[in-house]
Amino acid sequence: MANCPLCSLDLQKEKIFYQDDSFIVLRTKDLKGHRERIMIVYRRHQHTIPYRAYERALTILSQIGREVFKYTPKFVILDTTFASINDHWHLVASDLDPKSEDFDLILATRWIKVVDNMYPEQT
Ligand SMILES: [Zn+2]
Repeated sequence: MANCPLCSLDLQKEKIFYQDDSFIVLRTKDLKGHRERIMIVYRRHQHTIPYRAYERALTILSQIGREVFKYTPKFVILDTTFASINDHWHLVASDLDPKSEDFDLILATRWIKVVDNMYPEQT
């Protein structure tokens, strides 16, 4: 969709951490005062994605996040309920810096997953 910011991403200009046929992981345009803030975006303009793709996206974002957020002990994957873009599937991962601009919003948001960098992934 032409007026969708996630469909019209110029990947040459973005900081890309990962991409495959279904997903792109990149730094968010607005860091909102965080040292890092990343998101995983589905390549097609869809509001929801199949459950297996969703599970894979969580795994990818957790793995990439462990590298990107290695400066901090924990990071969270956030529900996109309050997201400004909510018709194109994506998830945001953020550190937990209390001085960030959106810290109150992070606390008010449902956390889909907390990734603890002090411990390896539990599977
Ligand atoms: Zn879109």
